[in-house]
Amino acid sequence: MEVSLKNQVAIVTGASSGIGTGIAKSLAEAGAAVIVNHSSERSADEAKAVLTEITEAGGKGIVYQCNVSKEEEVVRMFKDVIQEFGTVDILVNNAGIQKDAKFTEMTLDDWNAVIAVNLTGQFLCAREAIKEFLRRGIDPSRSVACGKIIHISSVHEIIPWAGHANYAASKGAIRMLMQTLAQEYGADKIRVNSICPGAIQTPINKDAWSTPDALNSLLQLIPYNRIGQPKDIGNLAAFLASDLADYISGASIFVDGGMTTFESFSTGG
Ligand code: NAP
Repeated sequence: MEVSLKNQVAIVTGASSGIGTGIAKSLAEAGAAVIVNHSSERSADEAKAVLTEITEAGGKGIVYQCNVSKEEEVVRMFKDVIQEFGTVDILVNNAGIQKDAKFTEMTLDDWNAVIAVNLTGQFLCAREAIKEFLRRGIDPSRSVACGKIIHISSVHEIIPWAGHANYAASKGAIRMLMQTLAQEYGADKIRVNSICPGAIQTPINKDAWSTPDALNSLLQLIPYNRIGQPKDIGNLAAFLASDLADYISGASIFVDGGMTTFESFSTGG
């Protein structure tokens, strides 16, 4: 049984860092040409380094700078990628940010910034991807499905998170976006799913693992007793995008070392 994405083209948003990098590398390893997206000049070198790792391992792809919250930039990214690669088969909606604050101190700017990237960005990219899937139709030399979308959500799709109302609201909304798209485009053979990571060791949550005390306190929430790695998410993304997962659509799959079993109930309740 081989996870194969040969002949396929994948856009991975926010692939210059953390989980997106892990996903981009896994999809490339499975044979997809990967578009390593990032948004800022600041991360251009990181994105190039990810592409270099991919090409040195025998994979292929390009780097593409685009802010997923800007409609004209997303439309341009899809147009350019389709022009260069012919089509897009897989979208991984991964780009995400946090702007944490106690709720009564949360500014409208902080609220809007998180919703714009984490939710509107996923809407804009999914819309352009589905348009392209429908234009191309099913091509059995690529996949039995017409196209695949993977939303990167979070355990905070179902676990409320004090001090992070904007982030938790964005992730809860992704669940309904994902399920609605899976329902609306199932008959067109477009598969749409979410991966909901628990604590994965990346720059976004450095405060939670960069000191022994912080890491120890984080591990209290994880029955499997280790922090996750980007590869843990990349492995599932490659499988979900492949034809081995052809009957999986409309699902939120938690990759969290058991965090959503609510560890604090193990000795009480
Ligand atoms: P990260 O290391 O901070 O990486 C975030 C990536 O998103 C970077 O490549 C960044 O590139 C990109 N990005 C940010 N804003 C963007 C925009 N407007 N347009 C395009 N790209 C943008 O974060 P991460 O931990 O890998 O998180 C990735 C996803 O996983 C997020 O959706 C996050 O909510 C989710 N997640 C993470 C965890 C965790 O424990 N780490 C848990 C659950 C869910 P630039 O620097 O160029 O903007």
